[in-house]
Amino acid sequence: MSTIVQNPTTKSFETRLFINGKFVEASDGGTFDVISPSTGERIAQVSEATEQDTNAAVAAAKAAFPAWSGLTSESHVELAELEALSMGRPVSAYFESFVAAQTLDHFSEAGYQVMGKSSLNQNGYVNMTLRQPYGVVGGILPWNVPVGFLINKAAPALAAGNTFVIKSSEKAPLTSAKIATLVEKAGFPPGVFNIISGHGPVCGSVLAHHMDIRVLTFTGSTRTGRLLQEASAKSNLKNLILELGGKSPAIIFPDCNIEKAVKQTSFSIQFNSGQTCMGNSRIYVHEAIADNFIEKFKQAFVVQSGDPLLPGTNPGPQADLIQYNQVQRYIEEGKKVAKIILGDEPLENWPKNGFFIQPTIFVNTPEDATIMKQEIFGPVVSINTFASEDEAVAKANDTEYGLYAAVYTKDISRALRMAKRLESGNVGINCTSPTTFPDVPFGGYKSSGVGREGWNESLNAFLEVKTVMIELDEE
Ligand code: NAD
Repeated sequence: MSTIVQNPTTKSFETRLFINGKFVEASDGGTFDVISPSTGERIAQVSEATEQDTNAAVAAAKAAFPAWSGLTSESHVELAELEALSMGRPVSAYFESFVAAQTLDHFSEAGYQVMGKSSLNQNGYVNMTLRQPYGVVGGILPWNVPVGFLINKAAPALAAGNTFVIKSSEKAPLTSAKIATLVEKAGFPPGVFNIISGHGPVCGSVLAHHMDIRVLTFTGSTRTGRLLQEASAKSNLKNLILELGGKSPAIIFPDCNIEKAVKQTSFSIQFNSGQTCMGNSRIYVHEAIADNFIEKFKQAFVVQSGDPLLPGTNPGPQADLIQYNQVQRYIEEGKKVAKIILGDEPLENWPKNGFFIQPTIFVNTPEDATIMKQEIFGPVVSINTFASEDEAVAKANDTEYGLYAAVYTKDISRALRMAKRLESGNVGINCTSPTTFPDVPFGGYKSSGVGREGWNESLNAFLEVKTVMIELDEE
């Protein structure tokens, strides 16, 4: 039975677990509620996978693996169908559905890229490597980009010949549930592509400890990333791909295009209500242009918020009450140590109910303050100044995170000096997050992650390498 979800385009919605090609209730009948962040009302009840359900999903994926891994890349037809369904019936107007379709399009052809190497370097031998799927791959999703990440993980894992079990985030299970109905329609063989919903404990933790899962791909917080590494160490040393948190700096030099820098850096931290891993939550502006930059940033940072279903609204509320309370707590902490120049007084026309956070700017924040060190995950930015390149680099790198750094300058030598010195998996020069591209790697330095995702990187991450040595007989 589907749970009814009231929204303008969808009257009823499938929210059960998708295991072995079928929609099923949780074995104990358990569900959890999805609460609208705009109104605080319940909009759906979603099945909560028990340990037994999670094990059943892994067992289905294990049983489906031999037949699936034996298919050639001609199985691209199934993936192409999924792309068509995804494009034709998008779950919403998110950019994500387009990104997801592009990803599926790419990986539907990519199976042919799976090849080993051969070597004649050793006398009397022909040596070669084979690339083979691991078996069952697991995935765990965050709530902030659910469809994009689901497909980003599923498409390369499946194209490499693995079978797949993914858990959606308890905060955003609906779009994954929708994708499950598309997977069913696309006609994947039962067990190949399983989508389950539930909280970290129980079902996330069962996946992390599972002896039959050989690779686990995860996007989420650094805190959970650590737990997954512990679980891997305690179970079967499964490989982990970890895309974790960030505290991304943007560095603004006096010779930059200041209007562009203001526009892009304010969008970066406002995008998705500040709920992105790579939002430039720390801005370092050269003291020669600080007043001008901050004034312009303040103007740009005031936007139209409201009902996320209405066109023109951007951004919407925070994802839920927990997220809202967390951001408010950080703002209160910030007020104790830094000067707040936007966010203290309620903006006119700002929504009164729901989990809406005012755009907030702090200046002169001590570098060791909690709000400079920890992820806030809201439309909250700290703008500090610097006098020299060395100072900017030292401040930008003084963090345990290293996901995305941005540099605005017209001096190409300075830009490249900075790119070399910044401890960050991604560096934008005269651009900032969310600018990323699928054909270049994405991932973090330091505690922002392990491994990389991308068109080239993701396929390899889901393939084992086997070395075969062949001794040739003398003539
Ligand atoms: P989270 O770590 O709280 O949860 C992510 C997922 O992990 C959820 O599905 C959750 O149920 C699951 N989980 C929680 N505890 C678990 C456990 N003990 N065992 C197994 N699974 C468990 O993260 P979130 O709040 O959903 O997402 C926000 C975080 O994700 C932020 O830190 C953000 O920076 C990060 N993020 C990173 C990237 C990236 O590409 N680097 C992208 C988006 C978000």
